[in-house]
Amino acid sequence: MNRIERTKELVGILEREHTLSDDAFYELLDILEETGESGAVRSVQIRGAIPAAVCTPEEAVLYAAARKVREQYYGKDVYLRGLIEFTNYCRNDCRYCGIRRSNGKAERYRLSDEQILRCCEQGYALGFRTFVLQGGEDMYYTDERICGIVRAIREKYPDCAITLSIGEKSRESYLAYKEAGADRYLLRQETSNPDHYRYLHPAELSIENRKRCLQDLKEIGYQVGCGIMVGSPGQTREHILQDLRYMQDFGPQMIGIGPFIPHKDTPFADEKPGSLYDTLHLLAIIRLMLPGVLLPATTALGTIHPAGRELGLLAGANVIMPNISPGDVRGKYLLYDGKICTDDEAAACGRCIDLRIRKAGYITAMSRGDCAGFDTAHE
Ligand code: SAH
Repeated sequence: MNRIERTKELVGILEREHTLSDDAFYELLDILEETGESGAVRSVQIRGAIPAAVCTPEEAVLYAAARKVREQYYGKDVYLRGLIEFTNYCRNDCRYCGIRRSNGKAERYRLSDEQILRCCEQGYALGFRTFVLQGGEDMYYTDERICGIVRAIREKYPDCAITLSIGEKSRESYLAYKEAGADRYLLRQETSNPDHYRYLHPAELSIENRKRCLQDLKEIGYQVGCGIMVGSPGQTREHILQDLRYMQDFGPQMIGIGPFIPHKDTPFADEKPGSLYDTLHLLAIIRLMLPGVLLPATTALGTIHPAGRELGLLAGANVIMPNISPGDVRGKYLLYDGKICTDDEAAACGRCIDLRIRKAGYITAMSRGDCAGFDTAHE
C-alpha cells in the first residue's frame, strides 16, 4: 500500500475509533514527518484562502479529516476568549518560563480589581463573552481576593463565562472559586511523564499534584483544560503518546497545545523551539481523538509563524484567545521571547483576529462558546 493510502487508512481509524494502537500512532507520526529532501514535498495547498499555507499530501488528508470533524461539532464558528494576564509574579521556578521566580530581569506587575474590571468592560463592549484570568502563582491574590474578583465579574456579566488559569491550588480553593462563579479552569499538565516533568520543573512540583488538581477541578464541575508544550526540552515521542493517553483517560473539555519557545533569561535559553508542523499534526490528531474538545490556536503558535494561528484553525483548532490586558502591561507577561500582540490595543487586536479567522474560511462567534455536549445546567 502506498503512503497516501496508508495515511487515509490510519486517519480513518482515528476518526472512527478515536484512538490508534501505539504502533499505528508512531507510524502515522513517521509518515507526517517525512517531507522529502528540503521539504519540497510540502506543496499542497491546505486550503485556497492562505497562499503560503502548504503541506504534504499526507498532512492534507489529516487536516481535512480534522476540519470535517470540527465542523460537525462547531460548524464554522471560532470562539474568542478575552485573555487578561493579571499578574506576572510567580512563586514557582519552572525552567521554561520567562516569569519564573528566579528571573530577576522580569519587570513585575499586578492589576487591581478595578483594572481587571475595566478590561472586562472593554472586552464586553468588543463582544467577548468569555474572560480568562491568567497569571503566575501570585500569593498576593488570596482566595478571598480571587473570589471577590470572580464575584464582581459574575454579577456584572451574568451572560459571560469566567475561566481561571492560576495554577495549582487546594480542592477547597477550587471549590470556593467555583461557588464565586467561575466556570472553567485551564491547567496544562505540561507533560505526563514523571521524569520529563521533573526535568522541566523545580523539585517541589510534581506531576502527581498537577494531576490531582486536574481531577479535583473535574469533580467540582469545571470545564477543564489540560495540555502540553510541543517540543519542550527533553520531550520524546513516547512522552507525547503518554500525553495523548492521559488526555483520552481524563476527558478534558479544552486542550491547550502550543510550541515551546525559549526565553532568554531562563535555563532553557539556548534550547530549540518546538516545530510548527509538529504542533499542527498534534492539533489535528487531538481533534480526531477527542472530537468535541475546545482547541485553541495559541499565541505561541502565532509567534513561531506569522500565519500560525490560521494554520492551527485549518488543522482543527476552534478557539482563539486575544489579549485584552491593559496596554502598559502587555509587554511584561513574557513567558517566551518574541511574543506577538504586545503593542496592540484590545480593539485593534480584535479586528486583526477577525480578519485572520475570515481568511482561514471561518466565522468569529461572539458567544460563550461552551464545550459541545457539556451540561452547563448545573452551573
Ligand atoms: N501559572 C499558570 C499559568 C501558566 S502560563 C499555571 O501554572 O497553569 C500558561 C502556559 O504557558 C503554561 O501552562 C505553559 O504551558 C505555557 N508556557 C510557559 N512558558 C512557555 C514557553 N517558554 N514556551 C511556550 N509556552 C510556555
